[in-house]
Amino acid sequence: MAGTILVTGGTGYIGGELIDQLLAAGKMVHTTVRNTAKSEPRLRSRWPDAGGRLKVFQADLENDAGWAEACSGCDAVAHVASPFPLAVPKNEDDLIVPAREGALRAIKFAHAAGIDRFVLTSSAAAIAYGDQDGKEHFTKDDWTPVDHPSVAPYAKSKTIAERVARDWATANAPGMVFCSINPVAVFGPVVNDDLSTSIEIVKKLLDGSIPMTPNMGIGVIDVRDVAKAHVAALMAPAETVRDGRFPMQAKFLWLREMSQALRTLVPELAGKAPTKGMPNFLVKLLAPFVAEMNTMKSELGRTRDVDGTHTAQTLGLTYITAEQSLEDTARSLAEHGIIES
Ligand code: NAP
Repeated sequence: MAGTILVTGGTGYIGGELIDQLLAAGKMVHTTVRNTAKSEPRLRSRWPDAGGRLKVFQADLENDAGWAEACSGCDAVAHVASPFPLAVPKNEDDLIVPAREGALRAIKFAHAAGIDRFVLTSSAAAIAYGDQDGKEHFTKDDWTPVDHPSVAPYAKSKTIAERVARDWATANAPGMVFCSINPVAVFGPVVNDDLSTSIEIVKKLLDGSIPMTPNMGIGVIDVRDVAKAHVAALMAPAETVRDGRFPMQAKFLWLREMSQALRTLVPELAGKAPTKGMPNFLVKLLAPFVAEMNTMKSELGRTRDVDGTHTAQTLGLTYITAEQSLEDTARSLAEHGIIES
């Protein structure tokens, strides 16, 4: 059973929660950050008692430096780091190249270090986007068609990264246990003001910067469950997870339902949460001028319901409800002074 785990992207929302759970379980953790001078003090202050059980390495997804050192002495890797920006980049390669090259770099260095378990943080974005003949319900067997014109750069980056890492493992490391965790949008408590893109959605609903909800929806899963799934995938018997693909979703919600849930669950924080829907024609009208609206255009009215039951059963999870997750997100945003309370 793995005793020392490399978690890439320790500064991130999911990476941080995973490190938290691994340290709590008594594991040794290596983590990569892009800049140790900037990030190590922040990580040390989050886990002041970790001492030598947490080692921080500088390694960028686009550069070989530091990866061999980060992998050395580890039994397993959770490759979490990948770009996940709020804004849609002008050039899709800004996301695709680091996601793809980073996944390949991480798995190659892991293999070279003799590591035989590799858990990739992929995404439901690699499963449930593009047209797919109007399909509304998705499972682990579905793949986002990257050539479809409606597929956004982020979804392309996650799909391509998962495919190349899987294919590389099959071709080059038959003894390695490879699997992916594919969460929908991740919510739950935040620990600081460095917000993941998914959390920005709740923040914007609460602070009034989304005055009307576009007619679109997203799946909800809690960060604590996403980290638990990684821990389970790192520790489970090889035959349980080998080649696995583990989609995670507690519930698919329309943005108007998310806004309504926040108004009901945290009325004292949700006074500005929108009650009105944004007409589809307005989204389409703004699409040529606002990149985010352009991405939304093809999502209007689309159900993208991802089945997380296979994952819950295989990895032994009971998902935190979407409502609880949204409530906890909102309360933690207020506790950290990120939204007004
Ligand atoms: P996050 O908080 O933005 O974390 C992203 C992490 O990736 C950060 O540690 C970031 O480092 C690192 N990173 C980005 N570009 C890098 C590069 N070129 N070199 C090295 N590190 C780099 O996002 P998150 O929500 O935790 O996401 C973590 C993973 O989960 C990603 O793979 C994402 O695609 C996946 N995921 C997220 C969600 C969600 O809703 N949050 C859903 C499904 C899948 P810096 O701190 O230096 O930027």
